[in-house]
Amino acid sequence: MIIDCHGHYTTEPKDLHRFRKDQTEAVKNKSALPPRADLKMSDDEIRASIEGAQLKFQRERGTDLTIFSPRASGMGHHIGDFAVSQEWTQICNDLIHRVCALFPKNFIGVCQLPQTQGEAPTSSIKELERCVKELGFVGCNLNPDPSGGYFNAPPLTDKWWYPFYEKMIELDVPAMIHVSASDNANFHAIGAHYINADTTAFMQLLAGDLFGDLPELRFVIPHGGGAVPYHWGRYRGLADMLGQPPPREHVMRNVFFDTCVYHQPGIDLLFDVIDHDNLLFGSEMIGAVRGIDPETGHYFDNTRRYVDALDISAWDKEKVFEHNARRVYPRLDAILKARGR
Ligand SMILES: [Zn+2]
Repeated sequence: MIIDCHGHYTTEPKDLHRFRKDQTEAVKNKSALPPRADLKMSDDEIRASIEGAQLKFQRERGTDLTIFSPRASGMGHHIGDFAVSQEWTQICNDLIHRVCALFPKNFIGVCQLPQTQGEAPTSSIKELERCVKELGFVGCNLNPDPSGGYFNAPPLTDKWWYPFYEKMIELDVPAMIHVSASDNANFHAIGAHYINADTTAFMQLLAGDLFGDLPELRFVIPHGGGAVPYHWGRYRGLADMLGQPPPREHVMRNVFFDTCVYHQPGIDLLFDVIDHDNLLFGSEMIGAVRGIDPETGHYFDNTRRYVDALDISAWDKEKVFEHNARRVYPRLDAILKARGR
């Protein structure tokens, strides 16, 4: 079985975009917010949007199940106040729930959080609980930078985040550390802001002692861990200079990287450097990079091909494709077992 730990609903019904545009305009103009009841998204529309896209690629690439969350760049935690963020988040999560209900074999939900610039993460606890307990979601996407590119929230190791982490542990769900759109013109969202944030998160964890305090907390750092595997020597050296234990012991018992790296040499390096127990298959399909690589004739984000091509044992591939994800997302494992998978 092949579990893709990183997929977003990026082919949403048109009216969702209309709603968000109206909502964003209303925030800007301080006018009345659009009524949620006016949103029109039929099951047929949702079905068509998935069948011709994510499901088609799953079938073509031979993957089985995608851990599915709302469009990350659409979370927009820097837009509006908590009430705006909460309404938008609930709509997006309910939509993921509908996709998972329509295609239960192919998708399992991970939630967006109603984070808000300047607001403590405790305000996201209720939505996490709703998604896990009522909608059957198995994890969340946690934005380390709700400002959209200004990084003015406390680092992930700060006690500010702890009540939220404690709820994650209680519910036994991991978080993928995932920023949203960039509101800072210096940072292209997916080319710079995403990779910056992945790298920044890792360095914060290396410099702090979050997992000493909360040993059961689990994070997935996407996009192959940002710049970390390539600069692994730098991080090992920095850990040493900072008087921290080696990152393998200090961070990597709790942190996992996905395989959203879009060329073979990058995947080769990732698997050379990082223990295979810490790698989860992911493609971020359909997401950041949608084209076909002219050098290979295949989609850049068809990451299964790169993993298939690795010279590693069949068991290691199986771990990366399936077992590591089941370990990091125990609720997913329980759901699959209950279904005899
Ligand atoms: Zn993503």
